[in-house]
Amino acid sequence: MPKNLTTQLLDWYAQNGREMPWRVKGGAHPNAYAVWISEIMLQQTTVATVVDYFIRWMKKFPDIKALANADLQEVLLAWQGLGYYTRARKIHECAKVLIEKYEGQIPNKRDDLLKLPGIGPYTASSICCFAFNQPETVVDGNVMRVIARLRGITKEITAPDIYPLAQELTSPTQGADYASAIMDLGATVCTPTNPKCAECPWVAACIAHKKGIQEQIPQIKKLTKKEKFGRLYLIQNDSGEYLIRKRPKQGLLANLWEFPWEEIPELSPKKLPHVVHVFTHFKLTLELVHAPQEKAEDFPNAIWVHPKDFKNYPFPTLIQKVIKKL
Ligand code: SF4
Repeated sequence: MPKNLTTQLLDWYAQNGREMPWRVKGGAHPNAYAVWISEIMLQQTTVATVVDYFIRWMKKFPDIKALANADLQEVLLAWQGLGYYTRARKIHECAKVLIEKYEGQIPNKRDDLLKLPGIGPYTASSICCFAFNQPETVVDGNVMRVIARLRGITKEITAPDIYPLAQELTSPTQGADYASAIMDLGATVCTPTNPKCAECPWVAACIAHKKGIQEQIPQIKKLTKKEKFGRLYLIQNDSGEYLIRKRPKQGLLANLWEFPWEEIPELSPKKLPHVVHVFTHFKLTLELVHAPQEKAEDFPNAIWVHPKDFKNYPFPTLIQKVIKKL
C-alpha cells in the first residue's frame, strides 16, 4: 500500500529535518519553557536571527523563575534588536503569572494557555504541539505556501482558508514532528522561488508541480499599512551627550528609550535624512533634525547620555537605526 502524505513527510523529516537549539526530534520537547520562548521570538523574526538570541536568553534566564524574578529593563535589554517589544514585556508578565498560578509550569491545555499574557491562538497551538506532542495544526507562511501548492490553489488565500486542508494532513500521533516537518519543507525545499521539487516527498501528489505553476502560488491577501510621519530631534550638549527619554509604561514601544520625537502630518519637502520602520499596523518614517541645545527645554523628562553608555538603555529597532546614522 502506498504511504500517505503524512507518513511520507515524516520519513523525509527524519532524514532531512533541521537541527535547532529549541527543537528535539522524535516527540515532545522536554522543556516547555524553551518552546514558549522560541515561539515568541520566532514571531516576525527569522530563524537565523533567533538562534543567538535564544541561546543567550536561556543562559541569562534559564527557567521561568529566573525570568519572573528579573527586572523588566534586564528583560528588554536581552530582547534588544528583536523588535516588537510588547512580546518581551508580555513574556515577563506571563512568567509572573505562571509562578503565581501554575507553580512555575507551563499548562498543557490550549484553553489555559490562551488565558496567559502574550499567548494567542498560534502560540498556544505551537506550545501544545511542540512541548506536549498534541495533534495541533500550526499554519504559518511556510505551511500556507506548501499546502497551497500541493493542492494547486491559485486564488488569494488567508491562513483560515488553509487551516482545514492543513488539518487533514496533521499526524494524530506525532504532532510535534509533523509541524516541524512541514515548516522545514517550506523553508528548505518548497521555497518561495526555485522550489526543489525533485527533493520533495510530495512531488507525486503536488498539483502546482504537475501544472508547472509553483512560483505563481501562493497568492496571499495583503493588508495595506497606514503611513505615519515624525520629526526626531538629535540634541547634543557640550560634553557630547545626547538627549534621550523613556517612553510611557503603556502603548507602543512602552518603557523603551528613544531620542525625543513628535508626530507630524507630512515630511519636510527638504528631504532630510530619515529612518523608516514598519510596525504591525503602520509604517513610520522619522526625519532626523540636529537641534540646538536649547531645544532640550521642550523635553523636561529627558536625560543626557553619552553614546558610549547607550548599551545600558534598551532602544527599539527604530532608534537603533537612528544610532547607526550618528
Ligand atoms: S513538489 Fe514542489 S511545489 Fe509541490 S510541495 Fe513539493 S516543493 Fe512545493
